[in-house]
Amino acid sequence: MRASKYLLNTQREAPSDAEIISHNLMLRGGLIRQHASGLYSWLPLGLRVFRKIESIIREEMNNAGAIELSMPLVQPAELWQESQRWNKFGPELLRLKDRQERDFCLGPTHEEIITDIARNEIQSYRQLPINLFQIQTKFRDEIRPRFGIMRTREFCMKDAYSFHLDQTSLQQTYEVMFETYGKILSRIGLNFRSVIADTGSIGGNHSHEFHVIADSGEDAIAFSDESGYSANVEKAEALAPKSEVITKPPLLAEIKTPGIKTIEQLCEFLNICKTRVVKTLLIYSKRENGDKKLSAIVLRGDHQLNMLKAEKVLQSHGEIELATQAHIKEFTGCTTGSIGPVDLKVDLFVDYSAAALGSFICGANKEDLHFTGVCWGRDCPSYKVADLRNVMNGDPSPDGIGRLKIARGIEVGHIFQLGKKYSSLMKATVLDEAGQDTPMYMGCYGIGVGRLAAAAIEQNHDCKGIIWPEPIAPFQIAIIPINLHKSQIVKEYSENMYKKLMAAGYDVLLMDMQKMRLGNMLYDIELIGIPHRLVIGEKGLSNGQVEYRHRSRGENEPLAVEVVLNFIKQHVPLYSLPLNC
Ligand code: ATP
Ligand code: MG
Repeated sequence: MRASKYLLNTQREAPSDAEIISHNLMLRGGLIRQHASGLYSWLPLGLRVFRKIESIIREEMNNAGAIELSMPLVQPAELWQESQRWNKFGPELLRLKDRQERDFCLGPTHEEIITDIARNEIQSYRQLPINLFQIQTKFRDEIRPRFGIMRTREFCMKDAYSFHLDQTSLQQTYEVMFETYGKILSRIGLNFRSVIADTGSIGGNHSHEFHVIADSGEDAIAFSDESGYSANVEKAEALAPKSEVITKPPLLAEIKTPGIKTIEQLCEFLNICKTRVVKTLLIYSKRENGDKKLSAIVLRGDHQLNMLKAEKVLQSHGEIELATQAHIKEFTGCTTGSIGPVDLKVDLFVDYSAAALGSFICGANKEDLHFTGVCWGRDCPSYKVADLRNVMNGDPSPDGIGRLKIARGIEVGHIFQLGKKYSSLMKATVLDEAGQDTPMYMGCYGIGVGRLAAAAIEQNHDCKGIIWPEPIAPFQIAIIPINLHKSQIVKEYSENMYKKLMAAGYDVLLMDMQKMRLGNMLYDIELIGIPHRLVIGEKGLSNGQVEYRHRSRGENEPLAVEVVLNFIKQHVPLYSLPLNC
């Protein structure tokens, strides 16, 4: 590509709204442009990255035996009513009406449409298993679109849906997809981990997420330092520690704690460790009839509540809510800092680690007072014990091997075993070997194309800009001629090299803008992360040399003009995927 005929538009200034580095660099590099919250265009340079990612995904899906199709973005309400998600899905589902006042939505995902296709096109078990995929636009009216292309409202996902006669077949395809996701991420060149995940609103009972490891990641993932165990922190099990044995229980005593509102203040005031204190949270869960029920959850002072675990333990029909300050005051007569489990007139759910304490300190349900020497059983006779907290760095791994470490990850892919959830509701059945009508088993497998580009930058950048993993770089090689407009030999050599490298099958960017200064060209090429660059100047050529530099290495390497082509062929891999842009 000749830069003079291309749309390169870089900026020096960091945009003020770019909170993370990938957002900043994609805007500065001229890869994406925003039109409204969560709505972006991919400019030509960004589209090249997008297409390369898409091609790798498509190729690996084809290798895995999946078959491509394309489904509509606009979806009829009737299908969503059949799957019972029309009312269940929150405001993320953008609903709209056509001119005949019929209801539609913009597809945030395509389970309904694919199930409609499957029930019409697949009649017999002989047509199974089948795995169908598309690479297509989704729309989710995200409450807070942010971080550039990382969390948008309109985005592109590869989504695949598999259909099976039985669970064994579903498990087999699930494993193939698990491996395929690993291959896709490895081919792109990313450091990633797969984790056991929650199934969220998609449903089903078995699921893994794929996370690109990066400090800016929104998710915390826990993994064992000795085994292959890894899980989303939301989902990782906290094992019950051994209960402390105390031979002589201490006496229950009340102490004054004036103005103490937080665990930190309490620990400093009493000069104790957070692990000797418990905190009590008053929580509303939802009953089936819509009523709210108040319960208390007790955690050790250094632990954090896990909302998903709490929802399950409290059997809440929907999200749980923390009681407001006003409710707490009304119910206990004190404020948050002084609540405790002793004589609290609600159902008490105690986390394993808090329950294992032989004695502890807690609020006394009176303002500015705490209890010391509290013992379960004696002082709080009635309570249930459960896993209610997030795991922490250093906790034992749930598989019994090693200790947990916590890292930040960006969720780029998610695979689910849906079972018969959609096929039962939408009557997607086949005739089995005995001629019986039976709902198909389903799996679904999503990976975000745009988010992968952003995640790749989060993992690969320096102070100068993006360092693209080679397979998804918009261009592999930049040719930078010095004083192109003045020097005939520079012009000839650059043109010649450009043609040779293009003919050899490389993606080359020739910086052939008239009168552009060398410093500006180098700045741009480093910002947009082109892996290899050749600087061609009259002085070098007169010595029979050009300068080569790899984006992630700091050193210029002089190359003799006659070896340049061979050097590139030896050091730069060829990618033969169709780019279509
Ligand atoms: P998140 O937890 O980040 O909201 P999700 O769990 O809702 O994502 P899935 O339904 O599992 O997402 O979608 C599969 C993939 O689609 C995600 O792993 C991600 O790569 C991509 N994706 C989902 N939502 C967005 C979004 N708003 N913007 C860009 N990509 C997205
Ligand atoms: Mg997900």
